[in-house]
Amino acid sequence: MKVIRKEQALEVWKHVDIVVAGGGPAGVGAAVSAARQGKKVLLLEKRAYLGGNITACYVENCNYFLKGTGFESEGIYAEIEKKCYEKYGNDNLRERNKTCFSSEYLKVFLDEFVQEAGVEILFHSFVNEVIMEKDRIAAILIQTKKGPMAVTADIYIDTTGDGDVAFAAGIPYEQGRKEDGLCQPGTVSLRLSGADTNALLQNGDRLSEIGRIFKEDYRAGRTGLPCKRQDLPFGRLTGGGVISYVNYSCCYGLDPTDPGDLTKGELECRQYVMDIYRYLKEHFEELKGIEVASISPEIGFRDSRRILGKYYLTIEDMESQRHFDDVIAVFPRFYDMLAPDAYMDGDGRVEGKGYKGHIYEPVVDKRTFEIPYGSLLPVSVTNLLTAGRCISADHVAESGVRAISLCMMTGEAAGMAAALAVRDQVTPAEISVKELQTMLKQQNRLLPV
Ligand SMILES: Cc1cc2nc3c(=O)[nH]c(=O)nc-3n(C[C@H](O)[C@H](O)[C@H](O)COP(=O)(O)OP(=O)(O)OC[C@H]3O[C@@H](n4cnc5c(N)ncnc54)[C@H](O)[C@@H]3O)c2cc1C
Repeated sequence: MKVIRKEQALEVWKHVDIVVAGGGPAGVGAAVSAARQGKKVLLLEKRAYLGGNITACYVENCNYFLKGTGFESEGIYAEIEKKCYEKYGNDNLRERNKTCFSSEYLKVFLDEFVQEAGVEILFHSFVNEVIMEKDRIAAILIQTKKGPMAVTADIYIDTTGDGDVAFAAGIPYEQGRKEDGLCQPGTVSLRLSGADTNALLQNGDRLSEIGRIFKEDYRAGRTGLPCKRQDLPFGRLTGGGVISYVNYSCCYGLDPTDPGDLTKGELECRQYVMDIYRYLKEHFEELKGIEVASISPEIGFRDSRRILGKYYLTIEDMESQRHFDDVIAVFPRFYDMLAPDAYMDGDGRVEGKGYKGHIYEPVVDKRTFEIPYGSLLPVSVTNLLTAGRCISADHVAESGVRAISLCMMTGEAAGMAAALAVRDQVTPAEISVKELQTMLKQQNRLLPV
């Protein structure tokens, strides 16, 4: 059976130079960099706060993998790190991942930071519909309690993580791994209070040790827990006994764009969260006083739609350190892909394209990979850019592309490119990439051009 949707004439609520849809790391980077070029920018976010996975799924660890490697955070991300700590402090006592954010402070910080740049924020703004005029987006529709609201802009940037705007505009995409379309698992995170901080820090980093013990016990079949996740990364540990982040629950085989699958994931993961809470309380002396402080408000995903662009970045490009003339970001070689089929025992090396288990390639040397501007330009719509984890890349490549600070870097480039397109009244594909690169370098971004 089919139902017919009625056509509706809508007043245009607002016209701006640039609409950024999605206020995660990529969206914040895009909106701030475009607004700093003097453009009128509207940032649409479906939730009530910015930060994406960092704030909605407590993914506070971000750039922990750069510690001791000689690589530093860059651009707007580095600025946020510095200013957020200056303003709200850094109460994390774990040396291992010293530069984590407190996601609650970060929420407030981003409210201020983004508005200071001149961006207009609109929360509670879900977008999944566009009005097309030939090969360009004429308007974007925000789904609200008042019904759909139309906004027009010269340029649109899709930073929804799932590529929702590009999908609505009919741009082809890929999702999940090639042979079966499976994405990485979804996770609901957990925050604990009441940990014995002194005991946990007495002899090195006991939380890392607990993670290792858990993995051994899981592999030996001793935990008795139903979740197939084997490792147990922890986030910040504060003087007040808060463990800000337990990244454990994993629900496999979900389509991150399907409400039925999302519901299944939330329900299943919340059970896993309670399982691990009870398990930790029961098995570790330092954790016997813990309580559940909070459960992350929404399930988080590591990958979803990848919007096909003028350039399709491959893991081979990244592994061969391929140089692109239109490079807009360089990042240390780092990949992290949780096995989509939960088969975590295998040797998940990038060469195997992840078919054999968890790919985890930490930064071990000076190798880097480049992101070309072409990966941000969708194949078919002329006034749209993408940034963040939904850019044009293969599935294994995405496990590097998805790094939070890199998502902000691609966002920063997209925002600046959009500003140039508005200034010169051209499409993003027609801007001067050389000028874009020069501007990025002026913003403390390291580019080999
Ligand atoms: C459990 C977990 C652990 C992780 N650990 C790490 C880690 O340690 N280090 C690391 O670097 N990365 C990590 N990641 C990956 C990282 O979080 C993401 O790759 C990154 O956040 C992607 O940034 P983004 O801006 O592209 O998308 P997101 O962070 O997903 O942000 C997208 C934003 O768009 C909004 N949005 C979505 N759809 C719409 C819509 N239709 N309309 C309006 N708004 C919309 C969302 O609410 C959100 O704010 C982890 C991810 C998870 C889930």
